[in-house]
Amino acid sequence: MPAYDVIVLGLGGMGSAAAYHLAARGRRVLGLERFGPAHDQGSSHGGSRIIRQAYFEDPAYVPLLLRSYELWDRLAVDSGADVITRCGGVMIGPPGSRTVAGSRRSAQRWGLRHEMLDAAELHRRFPTLHPGPDDVALYEAEAGFVRPEPTVRGHLNLAARAGAELRFGEPALAWEATAAGVRVTTATGRYDAGHLVVAPGAWAPRVLAGLGVPLEVERQVQFWFAPGASIANFTPDRHPIYVWEDADGSQIYGFPALDGPEGGVKVAFFRGGASCTPETIDREVHPAEVAAMAARFGRLLPGGAGRFLRAKTCMYTNTPDEHFVIAAHPEHPTVTVACGFSGHGFKFVPVVGEILADLAITGTTAHPIALFDARRPRLAHGSGAVPT
Ligand SMILES: Cc1cc2nc3c(=O)[nH]c(=O)nc-3n(C[C@H](O)[C@H](O)[C@H](O)COP(=O)(O)OP(=O)(O)OC[C@H]3O[C@@H](n4cnc5c(N)ncnc54)[C@H](O)[C@@H]3O)c2cc1C
Repeated sequence: MPAYDVIVLGLGGMGSAAAYHLAARGRRVLGLERFGPAHDQGSSHGGSRIIRQAYFEDPAYVPLLLRSYELWDRLAVDSGADVITRCGGVMIGPPGSRTVAGSRRSAQRWGLRHEMLDAAELHRRFPTLHPGPDDVALYEAEAGFVRPEPTVRGHLNLAARAGAELRFGEPALAWEATAAGVRVTTATGRYDAGHLVVAPGAWAPRVLAGLGVPLEVERQVQFWFAPGASIANFTPDRHPIYVWEDADGSQIYGFPALDGPEGGVKVAFFRGGASCTPETIDREVHPAEVAAMAARFGRLLPGGAGRFLRAKTCMYTNTPDEHFVIAAHPEHPTVTVACGFSGHGFKFVPVVGEILADLAITGTTAHPIALFDARRPRLAHGSGAVPT
């Protein structure tokens, strides 16, 4: 019998959650991570991630979000960390924009509590926001933010407490399916297990090269500014998260001030970054990029765009249709894959951990994951980006 029931390759957002859910169900788990716990070299760092239920990307995500919220609340209790804050959120843009119309479609389809605000009402409710006359907003009280580093640390600690063996600074060099299950090789060891969960984030194009899914890694930048106006206007008790779409379809998103006056407010462009790999990414943020963000941010939240504080790169791993891949490996039934989170995966971390544990243990899950099939037609090689 192999030494482990399940090996989890990659202990970032998804892998740490999978390790926890597997260990909590009594499985003998080995976790392998290239870097240290809750590091800043992948996709799960930067202090905050948006969470929302009226999902403009597709209504099919909503049941998963509802379960994710339950698990976020449970993680907050079990880890003792403040991992989720419901400060409310506004999805802003022209009425027919994907951000507004898509969010409304999900809210209506699932009966989610929300309010529609015109530009004047939006500004009255949230005076830091300066919408154009044609902007409208969907307000959702359940929206807010989660904290990536305490989340990853929380799942890792809970996994270890439940008996998982976690090895950091030990990259997997190769994996293979064997007669008994799987074998993973590192510089210092060879490990056998009945099952492998592969959650390698931006390393997926290499680690999962045989999967046949065309993945593209995208460089993204998170910016922090000190508000020019009083920081008191930006605290989470009075300031929402927002996603804001311009007439050209481009989006920015941002957060309240989370970490005191010197923490500043975080804002970022959603998509449109340069293609890269974890090895080639330019981790320096250049003055022209700061200037472009300051201009956009200054137009929409003039009181927010005060002094530039800092910036930090991060990576998206995109599929052609921007939907995730969460599935059994089509060629290796003892391998489960989780990749291609396309810049919107973090809010699903706890439920993805639960799904990966289901798939690794039983080969199936009660959660609706048909959208994330590794063989869906819209992932066919060469199909290019498909509007959703
Ligand atoms: C700037 C930015 C903003 C975002 N904002 C949001 C948001 O507001 N809301 C939201 O829901 N989502 C957001 N996302 C997306 C979300 O953060 C990601 O979808 C999520 O973090 C992906 O988790 P992951 O586990 O796939 O990747 P990661 O957390 O990067 O984990 C992958 C892990 O695998 C390890 N690894 C790779 N190869 C190996 C190997 N060979 N051996 C061992 N270990 C290996 C890596 O070191 C890494 O730790 C954002 C992402 C970025 C970059």
